[in-house]
Amino acid sequence: MTGAHDGDWDTLWTHVQLATLDGREGYGEIPDGALAIRAGRIGWVGPRRDLPAGWTARSVEDGGGGWLLPGLIDCHTHIVHAGNRSDEFEDRLQGVSYEAIARRGGGIVATVRATRAASEDELFAASLPRVESLLAEGVTTIEIKSGYGLALDAEAKMLRVARRIGASLPVRVRTTFLGAHALPPEFAGRPDDYVDAVCREMLPALAAEGLVDAVDAFCENIGFTAGETERVFRAAGALGLPVKLHAEQLSDQGGAALVARHRGLSADHLEHLGADGIAAMAAAGTVAVLLPGAFYFLRETRLPPVQALRDAGVPIAVATDCNPGTSPLASLLTALNMACTLFRLTPREALLGATSNAARALGIAGDVGSLEPGKAADLALWDIARPADLACGIGLCRCLAVVNDGVRRAPRIALD
Ligand SMILES: [Zn+2]
Repeated sequence: MTGAHDGDWDTLWTHVQLATLDGREGYGEIPDGALAIRAGRIGWVGPRRDLPAGWTARSVEDGGGGWLLPGLIDCHTHIVHAGNRSDEFEDRLQGVSYEAIARRGGGIVATVRATRAASEDELFAASLPRVESLLAEGVTTIEIKSGYGLALDAEAKMLRVARRIGASLPVRVRTTFLGAHALPPEFAGRPDDYVDAVCREMLPALAAEGLVDAVDAFCENIGFTAGETERVFRAAGALGLPVKLHAEQLSDQGGAALVARHRGLSADHLEHLGADGIAAMAAAGTVAVLLPGAFYFLRETRLPPVQALRDAGVPIAVATDCNPGTSPLASLLTALNMACTLFRLTPREALLGATSNAARALGIAGDVGSLEPGKAADLALWDIARPADLACGIGLCRCLAVVNDGVRRAPRIALD
């Protein structure tokens, strides 16, 4: 901006306690803090007493003594989908097995069927309440995966809906192409042919339409082999797209080491991660995304190797994995609590996992995830006594205000 100098701001937040979550000691607390915004970015942050003399701001926001944090980031969701699978939940609680449910056309295939059948408008409308639940908790960035279309048109529809969510609601959306999520029924017994379609037809077409920020796969006994996953990664690399992976959720397939070899952004789930995978992730800077919602809903017992990840210095993120079958959860704060309760993360680790490390898992750490000058002014103001409160309870923390790219969100979200 011409003529702008330090101290010429659009908005100045005062009467706030800051938790910068910039990775320094603790939560980066600044008790009597101030944060200035210019052109949608953080222009200045620090103790109020250190404000430059002669500052001016077009508006001053009084935070009422609340805690101002970076907006939260949900870095792993399948939030765009149609249909409902609570009937399966009821049946499973009556003792019906997954296999029996799958045989009668339930499970992921049921969500694929419903998502394929939905129009783009219907898919958008179905996804909206889930997104709004996240936004009400101070979430300002969401990753959204495809993977319930499993054919070019239906995958494109999912990703267009994801883009439309980002354009219509006050939230930053990062899209991930997950064509290699499951084998669609029409390719039964022909995984190679389907991976061909993913690599040669779907991915290039979707990338050309600007719908793909990253590429993911489900590397598992019941998903795709490491060899098939590698083919998808090569196709992504040829298009210059970063990769991430559903890895080591139910068994150790060597997926974490594979995604690390491709300089992947993240390996997600990781309950069955071994020492080799951890070392590879540490060397590549690949983020470990923990998904306690799926662990909880599947009543898993094998814990991800949190201490070994810490010891190796692997950055840890936490996300909802919001999906209709294995993690019907649209509350990132609940996921943070689960990460602490079930996986023994500290509240500090959980909060870094939903801010700066989540940004890293999406490849946008230079832009969001902490309160630092130059980053986007994505903020959430909380009525809490301490930052740890956000991970300590469930349904107890009130979000007082949210700022996206420097703009304070209306109390009720209105669609364009
Ligand atoms: Zn997932």
